[in-house]
Amino acid sequence: MADVNAVPTPGFDSFGLHADILRAIAEQGYTQPTPIQAQAIPVVLSGRDVMGAAQTGTGKTASFSLPIIQRLLPDANTSASPARHPVRALILTPTRELADQVADNVRAYAAHTPLRNTVVFGGVDMNPQKDALRRGVEILIATPGRLLDHVEQKTVNLSQVKMLVLDEADRMLDMGFLPDLQRILNLLPKQRQTLLFSATFSNEIKKLASSYLTNPLTIEVARRNATADKVEQVVYEVAEDDKRAAVVQILKERDLKQVIVFVNSKVGASRLARQLEREGVVTAAIHGDKSQNERMQALEAFKQGGIQALVATDVAARGLDISDLPGVINYDLPYNPEDYVHRIGRTGRAGASGEAISLCAPDERKQIVEIEKLIKRELKRGELVLERRSRPRDDRSERGERSDRFDRSDRSERHGRHDGLRAGRSGGSVAPRRVRPEDEFFYKPYEPSPSTSDAQRDDRSSQESGVPTSFGGLPDKAPKRQVAALLAGFPRKASH
Ligand code: AMP
Repeated sequence: MADVNAVPTPGFDSFGLHADILRAIAEQGYTQPTPIQAQAIPVVLSGRDVMGAAQTGTGKTASFSLPIIQRLLPDANTSASPARHPVRALILTPTRELADQVADNVRAYAAHTPLRNTVVFGGVDMNPQKDALRRGVEILIATPGRLLDHVEQKTVNLSQVKMLVLDEADRMLDMGFLPDLQRILNLLPKQRQTLLFSATFSNEIKKLASSYLTNPLTIEVARRNATADKVEQVVYEVAEDDKRAAVVQILKERDLKQVIVFVNSKVGASRLARQLEREGVVTAAIHGDKSQNERMQALEAFKQGGIQALVATDVAARGLDISDLPGVINYDLPYNPEDYVHRIGRTGRAGASGEAISLCAPDERKQIVEIEKLIKRELKRGELVLERRSRPRDDRSERGERSDRFDRSDRSERHGRHDGLRAGRSGGSVAPRRVRPEDEFFYKPYEPSPSTSDAQRDDRSSQESGVPTSFGGLPDKAPKRQVAALLAGFPRKASH
């Protein structure tokens, strides 16, 4: 697979960015633009609309934030009058966490300019947000639902927006935000620059783009799959009741210092977190039923390395700026095969290697088939010999709760509103839509790398030789990796 990082890229100083922005970039420790930045920054600076195929982890936030700041600098002023600080750039994101992360970045990049920015998302008190909006901000980062709450309460005026970013647009559609997006877009001036970022260019995304973008330039960069050849993927067939014991054993035997454990439901996430805690694994859960503060605290603790296993649902984990994570475990296989791609992209990033371990109960085999169809390759099967099974006492209570894996209401984690949007405001609830991948992106993601083939050979030989390994699918190494560092939490390296 072509190494896009090998292509010489211009330095940040070649874009004509203001010295105050270059200073902030240097303070972040960025030395070279990432591929998406190298391509997008000049185009955004030129004022053209952009359709960017890039995901979290590629540096896409800076690719739109830096040129936005540059383009807004002529309007920057130090006046105390709110009227002198209208919202000029609006950045919409699907989740609170992503909004918060984008806001952190924008704050850092604009630190030496008089430009003001704030973030609004649901699940937290509106009043501090109202105060910030009343004082005036040039750059507003928001989730759609909470933004509409502010629109309704007339605490925000969008009539002077000249730059709009739809970040992770595919996720916004997937989560049923289309009606809200349409409402917001209709409130914005027609004359504006629009930047749309999405992991996939499905028909829905193309339709959105053709309605709201003008002659956009499409920019595609190294997708997650470009780094995913560093990810060792393996599937263990495990009885549903044994999955918890399997997670504990995997953490121990693989010496995985930190993992995200993905589950499909909010109830399942809380339950598994409790059970892992009982097994002595320091764990936290993040999902849509947790308050914003709880989610932030869990994330912060994970960033600081105080938590070994972060049990998360797809929605809660979406867009989190997590890199160098030694592994992810799919406790439940995702309903939507695209989520598999997003999940395993949490590991093996920034050139690091990672392990993506999937636990497949017999009734989940179909999901594996779907995933393999999507990624166009067969996943390696490993053999997991459990040292001990889950305790029977827990098995009983498990069984009583089992049905929640497929509980409709619980599945609202994926499709429901996540930022405090009231039901019915946008003409009733929106039927969840499964976005079918239409583009190349998902059709050639995981080309087996030579290292993977080696691992497969190791797998076979260890099984044949009868070597007592409980992890037939992976070379039996104890990875000596740095505890997962979140780029947001530690000094950044030029890692793209
Ligand atoms: P993003 O894809 O925007 O979520 O960015 C992922 C991470 O990469 C963030 O922690 C950024 O701070 C970091 N990052 C962005 N641009 C660069 C760069 N040019 N060099 C090093 N790190 C970067």
